[in-house]
Amino acid sequence: MSPKGAGRLGLVWANRSLRTKGVIVAAIPLVVVVVVLPVAGVTIGLITAFLAGTSAMLLFTNGIARRVRLNEENARRLAEGLPLLLPEPMGDEVGRVGLALERAAGLLAERQAAIAESEARYRAFIRNFPNGAVALFDHELRFTLMDGQGLDVIGLSKETFEGKTLSEALGAIAPENVRTAEPLFRAALQGESITMERPFGDRIFLVQYVPVRSESGEVIAGMLVSVDITDRKRAEEEARHTQTFLDSIVENIPNMVFVKSVEDLRFVRFNKAGEELLGYPRAELIGRNDYDFFPKDEADFFTAKDRQVLEGRQLVDIAQEPIETKSKGTRVLHTKKIPILDEEGQPAYLLGISEDITERQLAEQQLRRAKDEAERANRAKDEFLSRMSHELRTPLNAVLGFGQLLDMDDLTEGQRDSVQQILGGGRHLLGLIDEVLDITRIATGRLPLSPEAVSVTEALNEVADLIQPLAAERGIQVRVEDANGLHVLADRQRLKQVLLNLLANGVKYNREGGEVAITWERSPPDRLRIRIADTGRGIPKEVMERLFAPFDRLGAETTTVEGTGLGLALSKGLVEAMGGSIEAESEAGSGSVFTVELQLAEAPLQRYRRDGEAGDDAGGDEVLTRSILYIEDNLSNLKLIERVFAGRPQFRLLSAMQGRLGLELARENGPDLILLDLHLPDIPGDEVLRQLRQDPATRRIPVVMISADATHGQVKRLLAAGADDYLTKPLDVKRFLETVDAALRRGVSGRRKVSRSAR
Ligand code: ADP
Repeated sequence: MSPKGAGRLGLVWANRSLRTKGVIVAAIPLVVVVVVLPVAGVTIGLITAFLAGTSAMLLFTNGIARRVRLNEENARRLAEGLPLLLPEPMGDEVGRVGLALERAAGLLAERQAAIAESEARYRAFIRNFPNGAVALFDHELRFTLMDGQGLDVIGLSKETFEGKTLSEALGAIAPENVRTAEPLFRAALQGESITMERPFGDRIFLVQYVPVRSESGEVIAGMLVSVDITDRKRAEEEARHTQTFLDSIVENIPNMVFVKSVEDLRFVRFNKAGEELLGYPRAELIGRNDYDFFPKDEADFFTAKDRQVLEGRQLVDIAQEPIETKSKGTRVLHTKKIPILDEEGQPAYLLGISEDITERQLAEQQLRRAKDEAERANRAKDEFLSRMSHELRTPLNAVLGFGQLLDMDDLTEGQRDSVQQILGGGRHLLGLIDEVLDITRIATGRLPLSPEAVSVTEALNEVADLIQPLAAERGIQVRVEDANGLHVLADRQRLKQVLLNLLANGVKYNREGGEVAITWERSPPDRLRIRIADTGRGIPKEVMERLFAPFDRLGAETTTVEGTGLGLALSKGLVEAMGGSIEAESEAGSGSVFTVELQLAEAPLQRYRRDGEAGDDAGGDEVLTRSILYIEDNLSNLKLIERVFAGRPQFRLLSAMQGRLGLELARENGPDLILLDLHLPDIPGDEVLRQLRQDPATRRIPVVMISADATHGQVKRLLAAGADDYLTKPLDVKRFLETVDAALRRGVSGRRKVSRSAR
């Protein structure tokens, strides 16, 4: 039964009890009349009894009324939640009503406490709602509740919302949101559930608007649950950004990048370069495998390589693989295939990167072809030079040789002058041929050099001696500073050639009675600078940069000074080929300074044996008759040599114009020296040499080769094949005789050695 029902019952019960009490109280005077009248008189007894009865009744009803009012007061207080006044403790109906009120108040207080506790729990729950807020709102869109930890983050509190309508609350903090929020609130109150992301300030919330229903299903309020997803969104955004970034890198790599699944080797990814190379859009490529696009043998090859990568779990580099493409025909790829392993180390994907090397390969092939072509051209050029030098030297040999012989004869003044002209022109031409050959060899990197430690003093003195006659002619003094035994790393002959050229220029372009000074200085840490300074006319600044250009005589061609314009170009090439440098300083009118810088070298422990031998042999005059066999097919050359030996009775000259005849004569006569031409009509000179060296009868006879073919390779080859020396045409008679003498001496000492050991 409800407390209300119980109260009403209590009152009914009390009224009935009061009526009973009233009857009892009203019956008292009647009892007095019936009892007292007969005994003490009627009137007094009646009055007294009446008064007493009335008074008693009045007193009684007053008490009842007071207590009823008290109960009324307590009932009001109960309704208003005020503390009850203390009721009088009487056991009648009114008292019981009071007691009932008191009990009802106690009950109410208990219920209220329970509700307050429940609400406190409820609030605590909502207040602790993490990372967001929960709100309830009524049909007037008034917030009845709002709390949660997310409120603090955006600088708000529940007071901002509770008790206020949506437009009051939001209007104060984010008026721009009111218009969009209202339909969502209303939709919830109409039973709809909506979830959406909504920004608030700089944060983003995931908000749910849902209806709150009573047990009967009626929507009694709306609820809003909002979760702050800003951090998650930002992380997602960042991940998306990173992903886009990586995607765009892969996409823009100019090589084909593809990924295949491990299970069935189907393509799961392709980049732009891949699409362009294969000629298919990626939509067509993804989900398919090699067999869908390439001929079977190609697909077999690709698949075999894929399996190798996945089984070996390591990168496989395929240097070249041809691939059939849709629109570009056959292309050649350089592909790297890499296994992509999962956390357990199992292959999850296969990554492939392919570079299209078709063009590069073509270019390389072209380059190779061009190189071969250049080498062929170089060889042809070498052959041409060799041939030219042969062709030019052979007639020059006659010109210079006979010119020199003529010069030895008794001639008239005019004749001698003519012979000198012939010799001068011939030598000039010879110099020119040699220089052009050298320059060409330097340019093609085919100049043979034998670097060794060369004594600077010796080299300088030798060239100074050579230049002395020319200097003396013009009254020019040549001074050489002693180089204190220093050595440089150089090819002896080539270094002398350079120094001679510079010194000759210092004399040629000097004034009468001038000076050429050769000095040196160290160039730390390990180089030596040799300076050749003259007192000549100098070189104008404006032509300095053309100084080392071949054939550029800088105007000297209009003077009487002889030259070819090749000396400095050749000198520069030679010095650089020996690892050095050459430079010039000059001022017009005040002389020039040429500096050659070379690497210093350690002095050899012994003096060169060549020098020693020359010294030893110088005193040993051989007066024996010597027989010399000259194997040569060119009549003019034969005549020349005959003439050379004509005035030397100690020499007996035998000649053969064919190789085989030469060999026979050599075996029969055992000459002291053989002069052998390379170009013979029957067998080549080098074959004659080989046979001479094989035959015990001729093995020890010194052989001097004579040929117009002056290539270094040729000389080297023949010396290695057993020739003792090599002379080039046109012959320098003086050098020819020196060589013959030296070879004869060597032959004699060699034979002495042999005979001694035989004894
Ligand atoms: P050339 O055979 O003409 O002497 P070089 O190559 O040796 O050829 O020199 C080139 C030119 O440089 C010469 O023709 C000359 O004009 C100039 N030259 C070279 N050395 C000197 C020098 N010491 N003094 C002045 N001019 C020089």
